[in-house]
Amino acid sequence: MSNDIRVLLYYKYVPIENAKEYAQIHLDFCKSIGLKGRVLIADEGINGTVSGDFETTQKYMDWVHSNERFADLWFKIDEEPQDAFKKMFVRYKKEIVHLGLEDNNFDSDIDPLEVTGEYLSPKQFKEALLDEDTVVLDTRNDYEYDLGHFRGAIRPDIRNFRELPQWVRNNKEKFMEKRVVVYCTGGVRCEKFSGWMVREGFKDVGQLHGGITTYGKDPEVQGELWDGAMYVFDERISVPINHVDPTVIGRDHFDGNPCERYVNCANPFCNKQIFASEENEAKYLRGCSPECRAHERNRYVAENSLTRQEWKERLADIGEVLPEAVSV
Ligand SMILES: [Zn+2]
Repeated sequence: MSNDIRVLLYYKYVPIENAKEYAQIHLDFCKSIGLKGRVLIADEGINGTVSGDFETTQKYMDWVHSNERFADLWFKIDEEPQDAFKKMFVRYKKEIVHLGLEDNNFDSDIDPLEVTGEYLSPKQFKEALLDEDTVVLDTRNDYEYDLGHFRGAIRPDIRNFRELPQWVRNNKEKFMEKRVVVYCTGGVRCEKFSGWMVREGFKDVGQLHGGITTYGKDPEVQGELWDGAMYVFDERISVPINHVDPTVIGRDHFDGNPCERYVNCANPFCNKQIFASEENEAKYLRGCSPECRAHERNRYVAENSLTRQEWKERLADIGEVLPEAVSV
């Protein structure tokens, strides 16, 4: 298959008046040209990932750039063999990035146009990675880190981006006097988060300009010092970054073998993302724990139309028991 699809990743913090109305106009245009993807429009700006063939994505970029407000908007472009989305969504939201500062009594939200960390080019960021006195902080979710991250980067012990400010406050003494650099997929989360760190009084805060995706495409650094793959929020799930000495760091949830295949736990109330080979997915009924494997609503059992007897036998093979009360 040839790479005749382009995936565009982009954002821009810029005030948008009548953002709700604009979201509808944006959706109508995207649909009229047959683009697919997910776009968020808020009073504070725009953030999206879209895909389509060369002609469609060119039309879209030209249309976006023709709007004065977005004239300098930076599209990061991946060439791929197939579309990264099935449908087109454009949604109005209160914010393009929700750091949850107001919900958690952390004062007001951050406007990156007023305060944000110093922008680092891929080359400057690589130098920071090699500098022992610099702390490198990954601002993404745990399941993103587990698929791949910069060598030596800190993985905050949090479930969600919104918990990051509190985590930083709890660990303040670790980096208050140090230089801190942060990174995320395309840069949009770090604009806000690094701004918050500056406001918190951290003296030297840097952010990877254009995010990991830009670092992977930079002709000079070529993704060096990145381990694993990068998690993306579309059908590709993972994309390569390191073109110098690529590695696999994901580990199969069940046997610990190298694995980059993410599946969601089949218990709909758990839904946790775990790495699993196709073989182990079947063997463990895509359940992350004994409870999830024997859960009444296990989706793997339903999707594969297993009978109760088959389910019971499958669990018996791995030394587990299907409780009497559970039926298909
Ligand atoms: Zn589970």
